[in-house]
Amino acid sequence: MTRDELAANFAAVEARVAAACARAGRAREAVTLVAVSKKHPADLVHLAFELGQRDFGENYAQELRDKHAGLGAVCPGLRWHAIGPLQPGNAKYVAKAAHTFHALDRLDVAQELSRRRTGLPLRCLIEVNVALEDSKAGVAPEAVDAFAAQVRSLPNLELVGLTGMPPLVELAEQNRPHFEALAALTRRLGLAQCSMGTTGDFEVAIEAGATLVRVGTALFGERPVKSA
Ligand SMILES: *Cc1c(COP(=O)(O)O)cnc(C)c1O
Repeated sequence: MTRDELAANFAAVEARVAAACARAGRAREAVTLVAVSKKHPADLVHLAFELGQRDFGENYAQELRDKHAGLGAVCPGLRWHAIGPLQPGNAKYVAKAAHTFHALDRLDVAQELSRRRTGLPLRCLIEVNVALEDSKAGVAPEAVDAFAAQVRSLPNLELVGLTGMPPLVELAEQNRPHFEALAALTRRLGLAQCSMGTTGDFEVAIEAGATLVRVGTALFGERPVKSA
């Protein structure tokens, strides 16, 4: 992808984010665009950084580790968002590299992140299985309060919000009830951040109250099949 193509994609997504904020009567600053760069090369992240993007999302802990190591010196102020499911054995990479972890749903992972984190607390969002899908990661909605209390008791972690990954649907509108439910749960827990919405449905998510949207394909194009 050329610099011009990437700039055009960012401008188009930015315009859609701004329009969704306007429709919902929300300030543009209330929503952070997390550019999901998983499986794309570090060079493309660097290019997006030069275009002004600061928040990037990665799914795989070791890919995050490698990009963090490669870009740390050349992209000062870049914030890494770890957005994928995590095993305790890989928690050390997220603890070291991430600004925010969006997919917390296991106490053993939370404990390991807490043990490994140094410096500022790791901002964490609990992933909620909003649509009660059997195949999906995430804590069941009725278990969120108890899990939140456990996370809040750990040092070096700061519970800031909830994440939802509703089903892939034909029409984004179909996910509006899930987004609204997650936003309501976030408010009820007194949390500030609500991470929801991807390329297919980020505008509906913003209308429902998302504060972090995770957009990959609309910015970087289709992901290569092989890991970059
Ligand atoms: C890949 C991924 C995204 C981005 O999806 P796109 O459809 O490419 O925008 C967002 N969130 C999570 C958890 C992902 O794994």
